[in-house]
Amino acid sequence: MIAKRILPASAALIALAACAGHTPESAESMQQPEPEPAAAAAAAGEPAAEEAATVQADNPLLAEWTGPYGGVPAFDAMELEDLPAALDAAMAEELGEIDAITADPEPATFENTIVPLERAGGALDRVGTYYGIWSSNRSSPEFRAIQAEYAPKLSEHSTRIIQNDALFRRVKAVYEGDEMATLRPDQRRVVELIYDAFARNGATLTGEAKARYAAINERLAELHTAFANNVLADEEGYVTYLTEEQLGGLPESFVRAAAAAAAERGHEGEYAVTNTRSSMDPFLTFSDERELREQVWRTYYSRGDNGDEHDNNAIIAEILQLRDERVGLLGYDNYATWRLENRMAKTPARAFELMEAVWPAALARVDEEVADMQAIADAEGAGITIEPWDYRYYAEKVRQAKYDLDSDEVKQYLQLAKLREAMFFVAGELFGFEFTPVPEGTVPVFHPDVEVFEVTDRETGDHIGLWYLDAYARTGKRSGAWATTYRSHETFDGKQTVLASNNSNFIKGAPGEPVLISWDDATTLFHEFGHALHYLSSNVAYPTLNGGVRDYTEFQSQLLERWLLTDPVIDSYLVHHETGEPMPDELVAKIKNAATFNQGFATTEYLASALVDMKYHTLDDPTGIDPDAFERKALEELGMPDELPMRHRSPHFGHIFSGEGYSAGYYGYMWADVLTADAAEAFREAPGGFYDEALARKLVEHLFAPRNSVDPAEAYRAFRGRDARMEALMRDRGFPVPGEK
Ligand SMILES: [Zn+2]
Repeated sequence: MIAKRILPASAALIALAACAGHTPESAESMQQPEPEPAAAAAAAGEPAAEEAATVQADNPLLAEWTGPYGGVPAFDAMELEDLPAALDAAMAEELGEIDAITADPEPATFENTIVPLERAGGALDRVGTYYGIWSSNRSSPEFRAIQAEYAPKLSEHSTRIIQNDALFRRVKAVYEGDEMATLRPDQRRVVELIYDAFARNGATLTGEAKARYAAINERLAELHTAFANNVLADEEGYVTYLTEEQLGGLPESFVRAAAAAAAERGHEGEYAVTNTRSSMDPFLTFSDERELREQVWRTYYSRGDNGDEHDNNAIIAEILQLRDERVGLLGYDNYATWRLENRMAKTPARAFELMEAVWPAALARVDEEVADMQAIADAEGAGITIEPWDYRYYAEKVRQAKYDLDSDEVKQYLQLAKLREAMFFVAGELFGFEFTPVPEGTVPVFHPDVEVFEVTDRETGDHIGLWYLDAYARTGKRSGAWATTYRSHETFDGKQTVLASNNSNFIKGAPGEPVLISWDDATTLFHEFGHALHYLSSNVAYPTLNGGVRDYTEFQSQLLERWLLTDPVIDSYLVHHETGEPMPDELVAKIKNAATFNQGFATTEYLASALVDMKYHTLDDPTGIDPDAFERKALEELGMPDELPMRHRSPHFGHIFSGEGYSAGYYGYMWADVLTADAAEAFREAPGGFYDEALARKLVEHLFAPRNSVDPAEAYRAFRGRDARMEALMRDRGFPVPGEK
């Protein structure tokens, strides 16, 4: 199981299995960061067998899971005071397991090296489940103190394993040996994924190159942190205070929050617009004060770019140079080539190809949007030309005029309990799953609000796993929505059933009252359930094959969102909470219409950032780069419209500079969107539509069940009979498709 901790985009204790919402904005805070390439020059591969002897037999966090359903976590026995000792013991146990592999005098084979490596770390996985609950669902200052102490220790632990030369030599021997040809394809893939995880992170290096590699990583870790801290400093350091007279156009909820934010900062009686997206965005959307809009806009888009001690330009230059040098040691031309090699896109050229194909359509749509907005401004006699600080404001006026969607009216048809039933219905139709509440008191939970369902095969009655739902907000629970697993499917060591979980932050209604949620939240609910179905349908043999591929794993969950607006769901589940009537056709049509609203703005601001990200990371030699000039020139060459900026300008582009999770990877959101749109079209065109039985079988067989045991591109081809086409995405966003009318 060790590979789980070193493979990209898989669950690690320090980067918990989690999920994105369905927009890049929510995704950025939710998605688990990819584990950094070996971060510290820690003591490489020192024997640790003696430490393993200290395992605490009686620590409940370390205990094997017992009880029904193949054993379940003892959430009723979690005590924070047991955590540090459990973590220490679990790490030691894993190092002991690794030592046993490397001490084997026999030549390395799949059976004596890869299999025990897949098995290693079981205790750390179990403790990790509890750690994840404390981190995400039940946080406290006491836990955060432990986390601050153990995050670096866990990171060092991973580094120690990946830098274990003896272990790598055995993995390499299997990878290069004659036995490979005799293995099953999924076994070969396990070996390849594990070998790559080592090789791509510097395990093949020796001597001076190895030392330089470690030094670069250490320096990069510092730079990433400094970059993030500078952005944070500029977000906290600049506040625009408004007086009572300057509140024109702002919704009451915004005014209330702004008053509280001002009071918090010692400005009683004033109103604070803080320098964050959640404050800037609604202010620019609603404020009638054009000069203030410009001021707030300039402040926000200057984060990290103010020429003071928090300026990030020099840091960017050094990060780019070091990343380039590091992949150079591994023999790659540039950072993006290294980064994309194990992504579905495979090469920077293919990512560029997609982005550049969509770009002109997005620009054309911006022209139309600006023309619509200018017409409204002219009709109002505003006497202005649309500037970037006017875009959101006039777009909102266009939205009201053209798309008139009353979110409160929509909510009346979205009851949480009914939506859950709808998801079970969809899972039954597509996956053949049946969801039944477990008998009360049979499965421990970490909070009384958590509901647990048994998942069985509708045809055979076979037990598949459990689904935990933690639906409601409370203190100590992180915001947003996410999905995770407490245990994944595997068969190499006896069949292990799945424990999947969905988490959200709905506000509990009064007893007997239905919980009504927004359209966005309903979409996110289906999205997260898509992740759960992806876990539950896994048929892989080895833990490593449950791992994700960054530009692929959001696709399955995004696709499931599409079933929310299918007829059977509308008719039986999107029903008015008082009258029981299904959502009327006009309202459904309005929701569908609104989906393409402002796509010029959204696609262009996103693509500008994604393109600049890829341009930075495909430079031949970034030494001495001036990011400010580079960004300006890149946008000029692209023909960036004057009316809007990049979604994330370089000096505050945290996705790509405060870590490596999305560096040369910001394109990935659109990549997954193309697959989603194309797969949705397959269902739309099928004889049985979204409930076509033959296509549903293919969906499960090729896109869900194999997880990462099959190359994602091959899996998609097996489902669709061809590669995904970007035209589907163009239609989805309401863009004209070349050659179509
Ligand atoms: Zn997601």
